Amino acid sequence: MELSKKLTAKFEKLQNAYPVKRSALIPMLLYAQDEFGFISDEMVVEIATRLDLREVQVEETLAYYSMLHRKPWGKNHVQVCTNVACMLRGGTELLDRAKKRLNIGNKETTTDGEFSLEEVECIGACTGAPAMQVNYDFYENLTPLKFDRIIETLDAGRKADPETVTSGALHPRSPLEIPLISKRWGIPNSRSIDTYLQNEGYQALEKALKQMTPEAIIEDVKKSGLRGRGGAGFPTGMKWSFVPKDSPKPKYLICNADESEPGSCKDRPLMELDPHQLIEGMVIAGRAFGAHQGFIYVRGEYRYVLDIMDIALGEAYQRGYLGRNILDSGFDFDLITHTGAGAYECGEESALMESLEGKRGYPRIKPPFPAVVGLYGCPTVINNAETLSSVPAIVRVGGEYYAGLGTPKNGGTRMLCISGHVAKPGVYEVPLGLNMKKFIYEVVGGIPNGKKLKAVIPGGSSCPFLTADEIDIPMDYDSLAKAGSMLGSGGMVVMDEGTCMVDMARRVMHFYSHESCGWCIPCREGTSWLTKTLDRFHAGYGTSADITNVLELSRNMLGRTFCALGDAAAMPTISIVEKFRSEFEDHLQGRCAY
Ligand code: SF4
Repeated sequence: MELSKKLTAKFEKLQNAYPVKRSALIPMLLYAQDEFGFISDEMVVEIATRLDLREVQVEETLAYYSMLHRKPWGKNHVQVCTNVACMLRGGTELLDRAKKRLNIGNKETTTDGEFSLEEVECIGACTGAPAMQVNYDFYENLTPLKFDRIIETLDAGRKADPETVTSGALHPRSPLEIPLISKRWGIPNSRSIDTYLQNEGYQALEKALKQMTPEAIIEDVKKSGLRGRGGAGFPTGMKWSFVPKDSPKPKYLICNADESEPGSCKDRPLMELDPHQLIEGMVIAGRAFGAHQGFIYVRGEYRYVLDIMDIALGEAYQRGYLGRNILDSGFDFDLITHTGAGAYECGEESALMESLEGKRGYPRIKPPFPAVVGLYGCPTVINNAETLSSVPAIVRVGGEYYAGLGTPKNGGTRMLCISGHVAKPGVYEVPLGLNMKKFIYEVVGGIPNGKKLKAVIPGGSSCPFLTADEIDIPMDYDSLAKAGSMLGSGGMVVMDEGTCMVDMARRVMHFYSHESCGWCIPCREGTSWLTKTLDRFHAGYGTSADITNVLELSRNMLGRTFCALGDAAAMPTISIVEKFRSEFEDHLQGRCAY
């Protein structure tokens, strides 16, 4: 096994990139796999030696991540998504077609080694459903014909023009939208630093460094009403203020761009179309609470986005917006990207820190909270990519103005990615508090083919489902909570009257069972039992006792797990059984009218 010059250089750079060497483990494994096709025993030894680890430490980490493997796949690894957004638009049928076309089953490789096939969980292409990845390349809005052409092209040894921009990110604006953090989307070469500078780029950083104290920045962000856009909705300014000022330890800032919630794909275009906005937001955040080192944790599947971020980081260093003495202010800030390797659980902030330290993505017991004991045991703030991308606009226009765009305690605008049965799936920026029904019918074009709306997942598959009668509400954190659901990560999935809700409950539970880290019993055993029961039920072998048991078990999982994944599995299931119980009863009579 001989490492190429490129891989050797990559390894050497990674070995010196982190405060603690082990942090380089997952990126090194992934880059090695890119070169050799799999992780060999020799590679385990090589990486262990380079990082001063024991081989077993490398093995235990690599066994956890779904993108890392010990045996080679085919030259073209075809990964078809069948999670909710893709399922609603033909993802399952596409997987069947792929099996027939390639003449292999799930997780198998063709005899000539050209193709392998894998059914995968959400790949962050919900607005381009049905979608697949071949190696790292995205293919979206697939039809049987488009799929066949891609396979034929790859089979002929050619590149098959992958998507480079998230589907539905660029579209004519509706008057109901307020493009604030997506305002540069659509400008030619929007990701370059020159375009950014010509369009208000780095003005907020100049203001934050030269005209504002760190306390004034935090105060402005508090006034803005900005709440975390990753799911929990915690007030951002307050989170920053929890970091102890007098700690002698270094402070860290992490951008959570491990976007993996089914239905959610808005961080992807925020990074691919405007990477400098995120960088600017991170430098301002670092200045606000005293961090001098930041990390952008990007989900492993978003490799081309990671490359875009790396180019933008290079530009920012070159022009003096990162590094030592930024804009002659005396403030230093370094920023690097870090790749995940396929684990939904790493979106949970403490699991993400474990992963960034080169370990399995197991969540930590809280307290202590990351603001006090975080990455490497040091004070750490973790914010979502959209949250941090909102910061330059807040500093530029002022916290009060930003707050006024939304509703009380729900300041500003929100990126929503809407998928499923709507006329115009896409990524939209709307003011918080916009009416959901209005959004679906007036901005996104309503339900196609004259069908009626049946249900909506408002903010990613972990949110309780809403029925058609429940959507005439403002879209903000508090109104959604009042309606018994959540705004979550902004991943809205719409289902028409032809959707089988038993099938939907089954598919949602498959995802959480697949992603459970297995640490606590209610989640590990609960999601596994619910998956088996819902599979059996949907296949026509259910009993009336199953309906009650599914409901009871889900209710018993609530609040009884170490992290929120147990709740994330239980909440949508409870809502589906409670609101669509008649469909479960119909299945008992052998009827699935959908
Ligand atoms: Fe792991 Fe699930 Fe427990 Fe979270 S709730 S710690 S994912 S087993």
